Amino acid sequence: VNTVVAVDGPAAAGKTTTCLALARSFDLHYLESGRTYRIIAFEAIQRKIPVENTRKITGLCDELITESRSATLLTSDRYEPETLRATPVNVAVSTVAKIAEVRQRVTSLIRLWAGAQTRCVIEGRDIGTTIFPAATVKFYLTARPEVRAMRRVRQERAASYENVLGDVIRRDEADMSRASSPLVPAEDAIRIDTSELTFEQVVSRMTAACRN
Ligand code: C5P
Repeated sequence: VNTVVAVDGPAAAGKTTTCLALARSFDLHYLESGRTYRIIAFEAIQRKIPVENTRKITGLCDELITESRSATLLTSDRYEPETLRATPVNVAVSTVAKIAEVRQRVTSLIRLWAGAQTRCVIEGRDIGTTIFPAATVKFYLTARPEVRAMRRVRQERAASYENVLGDVIRRDEADMSRASSPLVPAEDAIRIDTSELTFEQVVSRMTAACRN
């Protein structure tokens, strides 16, 4: 892989929309790494495996990797985006993502996927810090929790503001406090607080940084 653009940051900071815009502008392959953690959490719920059971969740992770012939688990289209974004998955996913053994496996899958591309943009929580510390360009997108929650409510009309804000704050805490690859900006990441910026302004800053 020649070019890796790493986009990290807390939940609902606008990573997906801006990554898709970058992917289009620069013809990059796009990977949403959180989806894999969501798939594992979803399958755990389906199979009634308690997400706190590290050993069983790691086993499930291995099983899913084998079933889907490794890296395709990352890009599997077997799962509806709405299902993976539903509340039960939102609640379970942070616990799954805390398990070091699961993180190791997902990290290997992402590196494997990226190795097959020449140019890619990957969004997540630990792309610039752990998975690709030598990424070509790194961004850390953030915004005040209230702004992130409000944007998400507008996007998914059904959800209530209080519930979404609660979920955003809870996931921020879980992501920032875990022992294995906690969410922190990489030292060399370009930090963008999008609270007072429009989508176009964020994309134009990111695009300018990628051109340099
Ligand atoms: O990005 P998204 O919100 O879909 O990610 C779902 C969850 O997966 C996050 O709350 C986080 O706990 C976990 N995650 C992670 N590392 C990544 C991507 C996501 O721990 N690289």
